[in-house]
Amino acid sequence: MPVFWKLTRPSLQWLGLSVCLLALPSAPAHGQDTPEVRRTLRYLTSRHLHGRGYTHHGDQRAAAFLAKHFKRLGLLPFSSARDYTQPFSLTVNTFPGNLSVTADQQKLRPGHDFIVAPESGGGRFTASVVHFDSLVFSQEPLLQQFLAQPLQAVALAVAQQDYQRAMAQPLLAQKLQEARAIVVLIPGKLTASLAAKQAPQPRLLVAALAWPPAAKEITIDLQARLQQSYRTQNVLGYIPGTARPDSLLVVTAHYDHLGELGRHHYFPGANDNASGTSMLLQLARHFSQPAHRLRYTLVFIGFSGEEAGLLGSRYFTAHPLFPLGSVRFLINLDLVGTGDSGATVVNGTLHPKEFQILQQLNSGTASVGSLAARGRAANSDHFPFSEAGVPAFFLYTRGGIAAYHDIQDKAETLPLTRYSELYRLLTQFLTYLTH
Ligand SMILES: [Zn+2]
Repeated sequence: MPVFWKLTRPSLQWLGLSVCLLALPSAPAHGQDTPEVRRTLRYLTSRHLHGRGYTHHGDQRAAAFLAKHFKRLGLLPFSSARDYTQPFSLTVNTFPGNLSVTADQQKLRPGHDFIVAPESGGGRFTASVVHFDSLVFSQEPLLQQFLAQPLQAVALAVAQQDYQRAMAQPLLAQKLQEARAIVVLIPGKLTASLAAKQAPQPRLLVAALAWPPAAKEITIDLQARLQQSYRTQNVLGYIPGTARPDSLLVVTAHYDHLGELGRHHYFPGANDNASGTSMLLQLARHFSQPAHRLRYTLVFIGFSGEEAGLLGSRYFTAHPLFPLGSVRFLINLDLVGTGDSGATVVNGTLHPKEFQILQQLNSGTASVGSLAARGRAANSDHFPFSEAGVPAFFLYTRGGIAAYHDIQDKAETLPLTRYSELYRLLTQFLTYLTH
């Protein structure tokens, strides 16, 4: 506390900001409660939650975990919410069952050698492989030959850049639809995502290095299930403000992730976004203590459907459970488990005053390293709120690990480099905002 006071007071005064810094929280020991954080991360990323997607109740288990903790911490549910949840529906393609791929007798490993394209259909068959020739783009006779060739019985293997180019040309895109299967050869990292539709055939994203050169035959066993109007839920609760309960500060983090990659593999989503979800719980724990209660009402929201296109936050802003106009500020946390290269604040340039405050606080004891401001970006759940006129930051940490939307995004290897510092920075920032 004294160190923080000394370091930040002159610079805040220089900014012309009046603030009672004595009221800012010190860095409480439980903020660095890494065993607690690690437990939360382990649970959220465990096999039991199936990648927090829309099969085997993955999303519901994660939501129940959040609601249980909200209740335990004494957060109040909004009267229009059922318990702490706000249900909504989404449509998403899933891969909850069989998944095996063999190319020329070589078994490909899910997650390492290949993943499934988000829109992939299912199927169980052996097919001969036809390699797409990029000369089709430049040589008319080859194009005509390709268009005339029946593809219904073959698996078409195509380099990623050729695939993207072909899919942008209506004639070729239509031709590709005929194939029994499509194998897209990816030169770099395999990065998974979600889709709200299902293609007529299996579509695999195979690491180019794992694909047998000139493979002749492929055997696929892939179960795909399009979950239509699947019922999921946002989870939210609040701590009433002590002086101005009608003014709200909101902390958000999406708890959903990419779900399963067949029956035996799943996307753990430790950094994305068990990290933000556990941070949200840590903040709720801190501010629920009587000594740390804020003058403004503090709302915590765990969103579902983020990976499927910000669906939970879009639903919430279309069906808000509190007036969006009463939100003084919103902080969205997504990918906060690293920090070797500092952190980035999306919308930082849109709200320069708040960003300056954050920077000043960051120069004290709670430094997460270099803080970079960037502009508007539709890359997480703050975005629908920003579009609705709610002042919001989206904060993520940089550096550390390369794992992202893959099966390597595990709790064991999440460094949490600046996690405690970020926790302290956020408690100070939220406290500051209520003055
Ligand atoms: Zn993500």
